[in-house]
Order: sequence, then structure tokens, then C-alpha cells
Amino acid sequence: MSHRIWGVCATMEPKLPERLLMGPGPSPVSPAVRLAMAEPVVGHLDPRFIQLMDAVADGLRLVFGTANRLTLPLSGTGSAGMETMVANWVEPGDRMLVVRHGFFGERIRDAAARRGAEVAVLDAPWGTAVPADQFFDTLERVGPVKLVAVVLAETSTGVLQPLDGWADAVHAQGGLLLVDAVTAIGGMPVDVDPRGIDVCFAGSQKCLSVPPGLAPFTVGERALAALRDRRTPVGTWYFDLTMLGRYWGQERFYHHTAPVSMVYALAAALEEVRQEGLPARFARHRRAARALWAGLEAMDLELLVDEPHRLPSLTTVRVPDGVDDATVRGLLLERFNIEIGGGLGALRGKIWRIGTMGYGARIENVVRVLSALEVVLGRRGGAEAAWRAWESER
Ligand SMILES: *Cc1c(COP(=O)(O)O)cnc(C)c1O
Repeated sequence: MSHRIWGVCATMEPKLPERLLMGPGPSPVSPAVRLAMAEPVVGHLDPRFIQLMDAVADGLRLVFGTANRLTLPLSGTGSAGMETMVANWVEPGDRMLVVRHGFFGERIRDAAARRGAEVAVLDAPWGTAVPADQFFDTLERVGPVKLVAVVLAETSTGVLQPLDGWADAVHAQGGLLLVDAVTAIGGMPVDVDPRGIDVCFAGSQKCLSVPPGLAPFTVGERALAALRDRRTPVGTWYFDLTMLGRYWGQERFYHHTAPVSMVYALAAALEEVRQEGLPARFARHRRAARALWAGLEAMDLELLVDEPHRLPSLTTVRVPDGVDDATVRGLLLERFNIEIGGGLGALRGKIWRIGTMGYGARIENVVRVLSALEVVLGRRGGAEAAWRAWESER
């Protein structure tokens, strides 16, 4: 008997299904990006590939909102960005403040503690953002700290954390502001330079609509100086940014082999971003999200987050009383080929997470999710309300 486990191969069965990915990631990949991944593989020091690396770095500067020279995609998923941030800037005994308004904030705390940071935590109830005053008060109370880390777009709760004035406050007491922008990049402004963010990481698989596997990363001058001033060597070889900077920078010093086809995919996705234009792209995300909210509310479902703090890329909605979370998600997947996400941590079984990310942030997808939910939950009016909300923004 042959073992035909490779469903991804065109000549083998069964073929993988075409799911509509409306969860917290990965998001739908556009046809142009899929085709880019099928291009011939060239050597990673080929002159044509080096041109592509430069174009990718430029595209990343655009979506990050920065002129930082050290801007590159790390070879790994979004979590590799988190690991790199912590490994390069945390030294044992460093004092750090982690703002924890969800599951990913807790992961930053965990990663930093493993590297020996002395971590203070500022918590906010899940589903809310940290008020500015509370942040400034906490910083004054626990400071001075070398590092402050925060998740801009908390994918576990659907909350957008405002950062007005944060970088100035952190810099004033001699520290650096580190930001997780995984679910923000490509779907809303990250504004690394305008906000004064020192270190920022992201992921390829959310609003950039590239398969999982790359982690965009950018570093400002202040953070570079802190890296040069380290007392101890960086405790990871693969994610040592100084070495990676020599590979992606002018020297092209061999560090590791870039995942060539993934870089093609990111290049194609960034070209699509450039053609659409950032303002139009951000507006499309907001419009799709508002249509989704209107539809969910028309079905008498309760959104977890107050409107001013909602993400345009990820919506959290409470599972109604008497409804089994996993059963509904299973039906959506098996009968309708639609993926949405469940809750993480304390919100497990209590919410659904519906993504409107990148290539997926379109009305036809919102209507498909809502129609399927209407059928499965036995409720009415969602798809129609979404369509009306979408049309009202013309
Ligand atoms: C998805 C996500 C990550 C982790 O990215 P992976 O690609 O799953 O490794 C980190 N932070 C946030 C906010 C995310 O949404």
C-alpha cells in the first residue's frame, strides 16, 4: 500500500480544501502571492534575489511607517519576531514593564522572564485597552525601566491599544518602547517613526496575507545604540540581529539561507499593498470590519470590545448562552469551508474571533461568514445588515 500523505502535491489525493480563512490567521492568500511562490528558486546571493531583498526591505519600511535602515523579514513566524526582540534587548537583571491586555502580552512576559528580565506587569481586563493615565502612573511608580513592551493589536481580545505619548514617557526615563504589531501591519497604521517606537515586529500571515513563515522586524537608532552597549553577547545565534543586519544590509555576509520562495511571496504582497495604497487599504479593512459588526449586532450577538477600541482586522464576539463554541466552528469548517477562531486563555469557549485581514477583508467574505452563522445559529438578518453597512460607506 502506498502512503499518500502529501495532499499538497497536485498528482496526489486527497487535495487540500479551499477554506475561507476568516480566523485570527493565517488569512486568505491572493492569487498573485500564490503564483509568486511557484516562481523558480534562485540562489539566495543571486543578484536578482538581492534586488528583491532590497525591494522587500523598502516595502516593509512603508507598512511599518519608518525610515529605519535595519528593517528586514526574519526567517520564522511572528513568534520569531517576539523571540528576537526579547533575546536582543533583554539582559539578565534588566528591569522591564510589560503591558498585558491579552494572551500575547503574557507571552512577551514569559519570553522576557526566560531571558532573565525582572518584569513588572500592567494588566488590563481582557477586552479593554490600558488607559493612558494608568500607563503613565505605572511607569512612574515602577520606573526607571530599560524596556517597555506592549501589543498594539491584541489578537486574543480584538483590542487596539492607543500609544499616544507612550514613547516620549518611556524615553524620558531612559528606556525603549518595544511593540508587537503582528495583527496591525498592512491593515492599519503602525506608525513606527511618528509614534517613536524603538523596536517593532510583525508577522507575514495576518493583514499582509502571506503564508506564515516570515516576521517583519524594524529597529530604530536608539535601540541600535542599546544593542551596541550590551554587557553580554546575545544569547541566540540564529536571531542575533547584528549578524542578520550584515546579511540583509550592504555586506550580504552569509548568515543563513533566506527562505527564497517566502521572500517572493512577501515581495508580491508588498507590491499589492503599494498598488492599492495604504490609505485605501486601511479604509477597506475598517469598512469590512464595520460591515461585520453591523451584521453580528443585527443577529443579536454581543461584541466583546467597545467600538473605539475595536481592531479593524479582528473582531471578537461572545458565544451566546446555550451555544457550544466548538460545535459551531466545526460546522462552519466542515459544511461551509469557513474557518473562524475560538477564544484563547481565559476567553476559551466564550468568544469567537473573526478576522477581516488583508486579501480577506472584503464584503463577499463577510457576507459568507454571516450567512453561514445565520444558518448554524438559526438567526436572521446578519448578512443583509452587513451589506447595508458596507453600501452606506460608498
Ligand atoms: C499571531 C500573533 C503572534 C504570533 O505569530 P505566529 O505567526 O503565530 O508565530 C504574536 N503576536 C500577535 C499579536 C499575534 O496576533
